[in-house]
Order: sequence, then structure tokens, then C-alpha cells
Amino acid sequence: MTTTISSFCKIDTIDIDGLWLKTRGEVDFTKGAVMAKKMKLADIDVAFERLSQTTPNPQTELNFTNPYTLLVAVALSAQATDVGVNKATKALFEMADTPEKMVALGLGGIKDHIKTIGLFNMKAKNVLALSEILIAKHQSQVPQDREALEALPGVGRKTANVVLNEAFGEPTIAVDTHIFRLGNRTGIAPGKDVLVVEKELLRRIPDKWKKGAHHWMILHGRYVCKARKPDCAQCVIADLCLFKAKTI
Ligand code: SF4
Repeated sequence: MTTTISSFCKIDTIDIDGLWLKTRGEVDFTKGAVMAKKMKLADIDVAFERLSQTTPNPQTELNFTNPYTLLVAVALSAQATDVGVNKATKALFEMADTPEKMVALGLGGIKDHIKTIGLFNMKAKNVLALSEILIAKHQSQVPQDREALEALPGVGRKTANVVLNEAFGEPTIAVDTHIFRLGNRTGIAPGKDVLVVEKELLRRIPDKWKKGAHHWMILHGRYVCKARKPDCAQCVIADLCLFKAKTI
């Protein structure tokens, strides 16, 4: 399953793990958002040194208790806030923190728990189906394998990257709207679609920062380098960033 940005000049929809999402302005394609220049490799090292100091032990804001609940939480998080997913999964994971328990809950039971989340009908079907496949093909374990993960219903490259990074410590980078925007604005990893940005990030970020890179970039994009109005005055990498339309 591919993850692509559908348009590069007009804000409309973004395909994350097979779900076409209205971005409602989260992706900034406005003038200056796509950098032609690339940040120097030495500056990228400095940038991540500083970003790492703002959050020394970054973690996903999604709640989970094991690789399986992480996989389900990430699969539920498309077109939903982490806060909203956490509210829904609190009771769900108390009842079903393994594939077997989830299957026992049944489609109706899963829907009841996640009905506050967008696209809950399709997501409930996917959670049930992926749980059945984990039982049948993977000894009820989440596979540490990209191909096997992406073969699961509702699991695309982005979800697989989060699971491989968060559950298994692999240096993957899941490019969401925040990372796509930050990669382009700063010049750390310019690219016309999320796959290009992901490859550029993996190629250009020093190995020592790769494990935490996607956390630091998401946090920076979510709270500082915001889509509509970046808070450049508060930005620790402002002197390194190549964005022409800085707010300072
Ligand atoms: S200087 Fe502004 S545009 Fe550049 S990364 Fe910081 S907040 Fe974003």
C-alpha cells in the first residue's frame, strides 16, 4: 500500500495507510513550504542535537501496553487525534490486549469501543481481520518484518514504520503531515511526496539520531513549526532552517 500526497499545490486530501483523509489545512503547500535547497549535513546534526535536548526521551503520545496494542492504536489513529484514540482504547485494551481477546470481543464489541473515532466501521473490521491473521499466521505475535506488517489489513507503510521503530527499536521514520512539512520547510529532507521525504530523511540524518528522529520532528511540527503559523521566534533550529517565510 502506498502513501502519497495527492496534490502539491492545493490542500485537499492525504492518503495515510489507505485512508484518504481531508487534511483541513494540516499540510501546508503554501509558497515557500517546499524547499529547493537542502540543509547542510553538519547543520542537520546540530539540529537534532538541539531537538533531542528539548525532549531527551521522546515517546509516542498514543497509549499502548505491548506491540499488539501499539499496532492497533496506530491503525486506529488515522484521521483521529492521539487523545481521541487513547480515550477509546483505554477500555478496549483493558478487555482485549491480545489478538485472541480481540477476536473474542467480536466486530460489534470492537465497534462499541471505538465508535467515537473517525471511520470506526472500517477500522473495526481491519482490527478484527488483522487479529485473526496474527493468530493464524504469526503465532499471535506482531511480526518484526515490514512486508508481513504491510500485508495486514489497514496497515500501510506509515503504521509499519511506527511499529518497527516503537516496538522493535528499528531506525525507521514514519512520515506524517508534520514531518513532511518540517522536512520541506527546513531543508532537512525536501521531497514532493512522503516516500521521497522518508528516503531523504534516512539518507541524510546521522544514524545516532534515527531512532528518535520521527518523535522529535512530530513534536516540533505539532507544537512549534505549526502548519498555518510556525512559531519561529521560539524555534531552537531557526538559525539552521532554510524556510523563506519565517515568522521572525
Ligand atoms: S524556523 Fe520556523 S519554519 Fe523553520 S523549523 Fe523553526 S518554526 Fe519551522
